[in-house]
Amino acid sequence: MTSPGRNFVTLKIETDDGVTGLGDATLNGRELAVATYLSEHVVPLLTGTDPHRIEDTWQSLYRGAYWRRGPVTMAAIAAVDVALWDIKAKVAGLPLYQLLGGKSRDRVRTYGHAHGSDMPELFDSINARIAQGYPAIRVQTGIPGLRKVYGVRSTLDQGVLPVVEDWDSAAYMRHVPAVFEEVRNEFGPRLPLLHDVHHRLTPIQAARLGRDLEPYDLFWLEDCTPAENQDGLRLVRRNTTTPLAIGEVFNSVFDYQTLVNEQLIDYVRSSVTHFGGVTPLKKLFDFAALHQIRSGIHGPEDISPVGMAAGIHLDLAIHNFGIQEYSGYTDLTHEVFPHAFTFTDGYLHPGDAPGIGVELDEQLAAAHPYAPAYLPVNRLLDGTVHDW
Ligand SMILES: [Mg+2]
Repeated sequence: MTSPGRNFVTLKIETDDGVTGLGDATLNGRELAVATYLSEHVVPLLTGTDPHRIEDTWQSLYRGAYWRRGPVTMAAIAAVDVALWDIKAKVAGLPLYQLLGGKSRDRVRTYGHAHGSDMPELFDSINARIAQGYPAIRVQTGIPGLRKVYGVRSTLDQGVLPVVEDWDSAAYMRHVPAVFEEVRNEFGPRLPLLHDVHHRLTPIQAARLGRDLEPYDLFWLEDCTPAENQDGLRLVRRNTTTPLAIGEVFNSVFDYQTLVNEQLIDYVRSSVTHFGGVTPLKKLFDFAALHQIRSGIHGPEDISPVGMAAGIHLDLAIHNFGIQEYSGYTDLTHEVFPHAFTFTDGYLHPGDAPGIGVELDEQLAAAHPYAPAYLPVNRLLDGTVHDW
């Protein structure tokens, strides 16, 4: 574990031949649980096994524990899976994307985050992202009457207890369409715009918001409801043509079963790190492709460069790629995890180093130890806890 700005959990597997592979097991706010799951329950099972049996190792960790799914289990399995893919690709002398079928495109389109507590601050933020080359931009704003809301301030603050944010769905739903009206007036019709509701609305509220945002031609509306109620998305889908993206907190293909089979969404948001690794995420993307649903891998600052790199290899290789979220990292994070992947003019490329192309500077990592930190919690104006 290391904290060069955020906490990261990294697994290193070494073979008898001295080949090493890295995997990301970071679960924001619950890092120690995954680290312990790995060290106490998974590492003893791996010693002496064949590192080339990736599918068999994945299945044995998933089925063998009896207790399936869940973010802790799946982040731990993901770290093993990615480390084994890293090893296999290094042994082959190829970048991972070559083992996934080779590249389907030359570079990986990203989107970046713009936010402001008011419109001038938001416009400055959008202009800054455009200047960085981002070809698509997620727009989040403050809501009049609410002190702190999701997506406007950085969540990088580390503290012993969670920050409390405010929420009022009615105020939000009145405000957001007017924000996109002003953004479209200022930046024109071509700039792809995204927005994250962050699980805050009921299906009928989400349907209404999607309809209200149709004139502004969003690239996607993200996590409009807490979508573990998969059936609820039918109501949203029947009532709006705004494209929908869902799934960054999902950790199993079964979380998507209704959403994909009934084509209730347009983008699947899962990351390598929180979905059990490259092995199951490739299967999810292939399943989604049958329904013309595309990828939109979750890319917050709390997925380490190891998990990010594994996702970029998938982005380059799969046919039904949509877009990759990329938030960047602190300079220190780039130093702790020297990497072959590049970010140029808003596009990522995994690089051509054998494996996933990320190493770990263990000495530097040790100099920046784990520091307890929580994500915020969210309360309505009367004090009721709401989805964050
Ligand atoms: Mg999100």
